[in-house]
Amino acid sequence: MKNILQDLNLNELELLVLNFGEKKFRAKQLYDGIMQGKKLSEINVPAAFRKKLLEQYEDEPVKIKETFRSADGTEKYLFELADGNIIEGVLMSYKYGNTQCVSTQAGCRMGCKFCASTLGGLIRNLTSGEILAQVLTVNALHGGANVKRQVTNIVLMGSGEPLDNYLNVVKFLKNVTAEGGINISARNISLSTCGLVPEIYKLAEEEIPVNLTISLHQTSDEGRARTMPIAKKYTIAEILKACEYYFEKTGRRYIFEYSLIDGENCGDKDAQALINLLKGKPCHVNLIRLNEVKERTLKSVSEKQAYKFLGALERGGLSATLRRQIGADIGGACGQLRAGYLKNGGSNPQ
Ligand code: SAH
Repeated sequence: MKNILQDLNLNELELLVLNFGEKKFRAKQLYDGIMQGKKLSEINVPAAFRKKLLEQYEDEPVKIKETFRSADGTEKYLFELADGNIIEGVLMSYKYGNTQCVSTQAGCRMGCKFCASTLGGLIRNLTSGEILAQVLTVNALHGGANVKRQVTNIVLMGSGEPLDNYLNVVKFLKNVTAEGGINISARNISLSTCGLVPEIYKLAEEEIPVNLTISLHQTSDEGRARTMPIAKKYTIAEILKACEYYFEKTGRRYIFEYSLIDGENCGDKDAQALINLLKGKPCHVNLIRLNEVKERTLKSVSEKQAYKFLGALERGGLSATLRRQIGADIGGACGQLRAGYLKNGGSNPQ
């Protein structure tokens, strides 16, 4: 694989152009082209310079291989990386704008039992530029540039555990929020983690106040360990402490993801335990009905059961919402599209 221009910030591009014997202002031309989602071969710099760059840098590090459109307007993408690895992403339209879900790793090594991303383990970390290029490519696909953005919000909820790829993810966050670039505000970005406690503390110090989302899914450590191996390493109490710290440092309320799994985590007792755990904390609970994954045996709940659980949380004083299930007709859950694609030898994704 060649190098990836999207890995570089403006200062680094300046060093690069000087190394190539070019004038410093060429860096800004490259940067603007990148931020507009252009391929290197389309960026407006002198042809001879471009040719030299193309010998060392990928023309298009993240290519849209296939697009799937849901009846509700959601779009899912299969992206191909320069080394042939496949990752996936989603764009969801809301009244306030468009939220893109990005992947941070090809595969995942966290091993959560309900999740399709982890079925084949971790293949590799994505570079910061490969994460950024997902956003730039989709923004350009929808006619956006760095000034008039089409992607307004980002969630790091695609394949991978963002905090298991800490340095690349932080660099991505710095580049995607940089003034003069695509400049998506940190408050419009949510980072979701299964709960890597030391990295939550580190992230709190980065001065990029993104929304922190924790995949909780259970109210006890034993229960959590049944579906999430990471629960054997860090306790819920440790995670809550790290969240408090994140709140103190950033002023951002934190969010818990709670996927409703039949017979596992959504009885009356579970609702009460969740209330006891979180009441009075500056947090919000996002409920989502499990997206059933073919390769897994866990079952989802009915809409009625989900609303019952939501009602119990609200009566108990928690701030909670039941997330709409969107894009389910096109392989809704995390990693399903990629898993389907790989299983079918790279053809029919479903
Ligand atoms: N690794 C990170 C981010 C990726 S997953 C994390 O664990 O948070 C994004 C969210 O989708 C997580 O809350 C994850 O637990 C949840 N998820 C994964 N598979 C799911 C499924 N089949 N149904 C519902 N939610 C799922």
